[in-house]
Amino acid sequence: MSLSRREIAAEATGPTIVAGEILVEIMATDRGMGFLEPLTLVGPYPSGAPAIFIDQVARLGGGAGLIGCVGRDDFGTINLERLKRDGVDVSAVDVSDRYPTGSAFVRYRRDGIRDFVYNIAESAAGQIHLTTAARLLADRAGHLHVMGSTLSVAGLKEIVAYALKAVRARGGSTSFDPNMRKELIDGADGEQFAALVDDADLLLPSGDELLAAAGVDDQHQAVTALFARGVGEIVLKRGADGSSWFGADGTRIDCAGFHVEEVDPTGAGDCFGATYLTCRRQGMEPGKALFYANAAGARNVTRRGPMEGTAGFDVLDDFIAGTARAT
Ligand code: ATP
Ligand code: MG
Repeated sequence: MSLSRREIAAEATGPTIVAGEILVEIMATDRGMGFLEPLTLVGPYPSGAPAIFIDQVARLGGGAGLIGCVGRDDFGTINLERLKRDGVDVSAVDVSDRYPTGSAFVRYRRDGIRDFVYNIAESAAGQIHLTTAARLLADRAGHLHVMGSTLSVAGLKEIVAYALKAVRARGGSTSFDPNMRKELIDGADGEQFAALVDDADLLLPSGDELLAAAGVDDQHQAVTALFARGVGEIVLKRGADGSSWFGADGTRIDCAGFHVEEVDPTGAGDCFGATYLTCRRQGMEPGKALFYANAAGARNVTRRGPMEGTAGFDVLDDFIAGTARAT
């Protein structure tokens, strides 16, 4: 339990880094159930939650590096080209000669629920491990972002443990997006999960993940319990309703959602988190950072393709100027 609260490290401390799956997403154009008939599909689109997150950091001008693994194939190339174009350091993205790049086929049901067919564990994304290049990147990083969804990949534990130590040694900070349902937190993973929560200078839960992270059933209690464990600040994602910021001193800021037509919700949480973090690392106050993060999340859902909605400040300012918000 770490009770010495830290600030989110300034940009000058070093780039933001994240580790995890790099995928292509291929999606059905019409809504319905699953993939049990021939369908019209579009893609491949660059994807993978860590890749979306770090691409958005770079789009905002933040230092950004990614630890991951792709295959030596076109699916890997479109990801690497996109990330490089947007300014992400991909020196720690390994290229596998043996495994193909990971993929996710997705189809939306009429009620918005998604059906997936994944190829991750047996793809290049499942081969990720602590390489020399990954160590070198972690050794000069200023902030580590961790996503709960990636922790099931075997090599991630070692990478996160190494990077956490390296970033801390430089006076850097960490953020954690639990991105995990209550039912999935158990056993040994539960321990690592709890340690990551304790260590988070910024916690980015959505909905019930806030309660799951604290292990209680009430929002106020959850926030209090998390700050008692040493968490620095908490930002709660509330989908179309926007988001809320909680400070360790008991203050709270609510930010209403922008009114948008939801075309593709995948990636909103990652764009949101990356924007909040990067604004804070660039010295912005929580309220303003939250506002930009809301804009980034909302704009992302208006674009088809998980990484197609990443945006720089110029694009976000235009979006804010042209979009209504609930008050
Ligand atoms: P993901 O499904 O990518 O894991 P998440 O559950 O982590 O996402 P959400 O709450 O869905 O996160 O979205 C993150 C933020 O993006 C929200 O807090 C909100 O600011 C914005 N957002 C998401 N969906 C919408 C929407 N339909 N309308 C307006 N804003 C949205
Ligand atoms: Mg989520």
